This record gives sequence, structure tokens and C-alpha cells, in this order.
Amino acid sequence: MNAGAVTAVLALGSNLGESRDTLSDAVAQLADHPGVRLQAVSPVVRTRPVGGPDQPDYLNLVISVETDLAPHDLLAHCQAVENAHHRVREVRWGPRTLDVDIITYGDTVLDDETLTLPHPRASTRAFVLQPWAWMDPGAVLSGTPVAELAAKAEDLPGLEIFEGD
Ligand code: ATP
Ligand code: MG
Ligand code: MG
Repeated sequence: MNAGAVTAVLALGSNLGESRDTLSDAVAQLADHPGVRLQAVSPVVRTRPVGGPDQPDYLNLVISVETDLAPHDLLAHCQAVENAHHRVREVRWGPRTLDVDIITYGDTVLDDETLTLPHPRASTRAFVLQPWAWMDPGAVLSGTPVAELAAKAEDLPGLEIFEGD
């Protein structure tokens, strides 16, 4: 790992369009930056939507990257990749072609108008926690094993590994 580089965990989700292709493209685009190196990719899971309006199931995955980017620069990069997939924000928690969230950025704790780290809702979301635990069985979030948090998440029963249609 480069001096100053940090490991960040990113969560990707899609429930509109060709979601499986969108996720693969997005992983490649996220890694296609001089300040970002892909370390690990989780299995893809299919999950029922949490909150928001009636909408199709999601495909989700988690990646870990080593990055030289500062937190807000990493967020801007994630949003550029979202925008490349023509994401439009209409309804909060509504359907989208691509969502890319920063779950953790090293051990950084931060809360301002545009960025909260760790992601404030990650600790209760099986669609983030379960793929993360499969990718990295030793992962810990704010002091608690991610696998333990996943086991308690209310949306866990609606989650399955996506093998392709
Ligand atoms: P949720 O945050 O519940 O997963 P969402 O991902 O659908 O909802 P977005 O519309 O993608 O929400 O993001 C809304 C705003 O959240 C973004 O403009 C961004 O500034 C802010 N935000 C705060 N913390 C984070 C984070 N850790 N990762 C990504 N976006 C964040
Ligand atoms: Mg999100
Ligand atoms: Mg988001």
C-alpha cells in the first residue's frame, strides 16, 4: 500500500436497466482512476428494496479499494461514475440505475453537509453488510464484526446470491 493510501469500502446498487452490466461497468470505472486501486469485489446479491416507493429488486455488491484520494474527492469520483450511468435523483430512496456509497474510509469518522463516514445507514443494511462479510470475513464496522451486524439486519431474509438470470 502506498504511503498515505487508505482502504475504502464502497457499496454499489442498481435496480433499473441492465443492472448486472451496470455494476460490472461501474466497478471498472471506479478502478479506472490513478488514485484508486481495486482490492476485492464481493458476490452480487439480489435484494428487495428497503424504503422508498414500490420498485424492482436491487442487485448490490461491495468493493474494497486502496485510494490516495481525500474523502470528498473519492465521493466526487463515485458521483461521476453514477452520473456516467445517467442517474437521475427523483424520489428519495427511489429506483436508480446506479448508486455508489462510501461505507468506510479507513477509520475516518466525519459528518458534514455532503459526507458522513462511516455511512450512517450501513450498519443495519444486509444488502451492504452481507456481501461485505462474504468479501472480507474479518471486516469490522465501528467495532462490531460486519458478519454479526449482517445476521441481525431486518432485510437479511430477502437477500440471495445472484447467479445470473
Ligand atoms: P442512502 O444514503 O440512504 O443510501 P442514497 O444513496 O439513495 O440514500 P443519494 O441520493 O445517493 O442517497 O445521496 C444523497 C447524498 O448523500 C449525496 O449527495 C451525498 O452528498 C450524501 N452522502 C453523505 N454521506 C455519504 C456517503 N458516505 N456516501 C455517499 N453519499 C453520501
Ligand atoms: Mg445508498
Ligand atoms: Mg448514494
